[in-house]
Amino acid sequence: MIGFEKYPELAALFPKGERRERMALVEDLARSAHDNLLEFLVWNHELYLPPGFVELYPKVKGVDYPVCLSSELLKKSIRNKYVEFFQGAPSVDGVVISVNESGQFSLITDAGCKCDRCRRLSQHERLMAVLNEVIAVTTEFKKQIVLRTFRRLSSTICTAIQSWRRFAGHSPGFLGRCR
Ligand SMILES: [Zn+2]
Repeated sequence: MIGFEKYPELAALFPKGERRERMALVEDLARSAHDNLLEFLVWNHELYLPPGFVELYPKVKGVDYPVCLSSELLKKSIRNKYVEFFQGAPSVDGVVISVNESGQFSLITDAGCKCDRCRRLSQHERLMAVLNEVIAVTTEFKKQIVLRTFRRLSSTICTAIQSWRRFAGHSPGFLGRCR
């Protein structure tokens, strides 16, 4: 759905017309939801990389892990993806971030990259390295975030919610309960 406008090499791997059509469909759905007094949020995972991303941008590779969570290129690409999404479908009210369920990355349990910078990060900091980028864009575009997981809640995700409140000055929606 994302066109990867800032990443032409990556964009070339996906059919362009189809991406535009899907984005237009999402925008239409969001407008229809509003016409019916509903909000429209889009589901995503804390980190999902399109096939071919790491091979095209080897700078994001981690040590003993597919990606380095300290990589500025990785963080920037996450930011750019959400910016492009909210610019392309401006009527969408926000995102539901489902943690630990993408099948690609499970940031509240993965040991993560073993490079010198990442090795010092706590589990909470590894999760926030990614979520902070989502928070920055949703805050800029004044969109909602709902953070959720089917997994048993860990202190990591509860700490992330507290950090989120400090960072964004508001609470994300949250489906679950911190003990
Ligand atoms: Zn690293």
